[in-house]
Amino acid sequence: MAPTHVLRCCQRTLAWIPVIFIAAVVCWSYYAYVVELCLYTIISIGEKIVYMIFFHLFFIMFVWSYWKTIYIQPANPSKEFCLPKVEKERYEKEERPENQQEILWRAATSLPLYTRTGAGGVSIRYCDRCQVIKPDRCHHCSACDMCVLKMDHHCPWVNNCVGFSNYKFFILFLAYSLLYCLFIAATVLQYFIKFWTLCRRKSVENCPKNELKDTHAKFHVLFLFFVAAMFCISILSLFSYHLWLVGKNRSTIEAFRAPVFRAGSDKNGFSLGFRKNIAQVFGDQKKFWLLPVCTSQGDGLTFPTRLVSADVEQQATVTLQQEPSKSAAEVPESPVSESQNRLLSSEQNANNVAEHQETNTPAESETITISIESES
Ligand SMILES: [Zn+2]
Ligand SMILES: [Zn+2]
Repeated sequence: MAPTHVLRCCQRTLAWIPVIFIAAVVCWSYYAYVVELCLYTIISIGEKIVYMIFFHLFFIMFVWSYWKTIYIQPANPSKEFCLPKVEKERYEKEERPENQQEILWRAATSLPLYTRTGAGGVSIRYCDRCQVIKPDRCHHCSACDMCVLKMDHHCPWVNNCVGFSNYKFFILFLAYSLLYCLFIAATVLQYFIKFWTLCRRKSVENCPKNELKDTHAKFHVLFLFFVAAMFCISILSLFSYHLWLVGKNRSTIEAFRAPVFRAGSDKNGFSLGFRKNIAQVFGDQKKFWLLPVCTSQGDGLTFPTRLVSADVEQQATVTLQQEPSKSAAEVPESPVSESQNRLLSSEQNANNVAEHQETNTPAESETITISIESES
């Protein structure tokens, strides 16, 4: 046990290296921009003030959103998704997958679950590692060794899982880091060019007024432009991809593997239309969209889906909310009222168990870690 514990401690310590690297680059960029460029290189007072104001604005927003992405812990399934003690013991003793599924189906009676696993989408998703029934969009992260609600991916650059609790902060972190790098690259460009054509005369008095002298600021300014431009290119691609995902209400994991509903897999299963998809992550109030404060909708355990007419369970619930004269066929493909509906009635559940027993397949093990960042 001891060597495993030591190994895990080492892994946890080493996992902070990318974060320390980013922090070091940010600290150096602050020094290079504020001290070497604004204080030592730029002559115009007006230019210095304007650059410093905008630089600090982007810097504060960038550091704030980066800190929140790192600091906010991933959200886990609540206690109601754990099996009762007796059921858990029965589940562990059972060797036949179909009997295990029967136990899970019974336990899931009162849970709001719409996604399934296995061929035909008939099995309840269960994490053997955490011993918990997985809520919709929840996945087990092997790096964090826990189930994470609406898991997107495990990001080494923040040494944290990006999921329901911090996805908005992650998007803002990408946005502000892109703005920070763009601003630096745009404002440093003219001094970058001037340093290439700098005055090499030994006597400073002989240098023309518009030419820069060969000072220690040269090194910092040249590298500042290169680093900012490099980060710009890599962050832009990642940021564009995540904006597209937000517009589709899809996580990175779901983009790779579509969620499975009772009616089958559907990559757009959680898509509610562009505006509502944006609101799911950023909230209803636009004034908070650009601030790294928690405004995401829902609790991370249940999500509205668009598969109303395709999913018998949801259709039944929605039909109850419609006027009596409206037939099920008329039910629009709109979200179930923000997933307030609970799973199945006990009668429906009994049918599902029976149906499951006819076509059961072993529960699929879902242990996923995706790391797609490549900023450096
Ligand atoms: Zn787990
Ligand atoms: Zn993780």
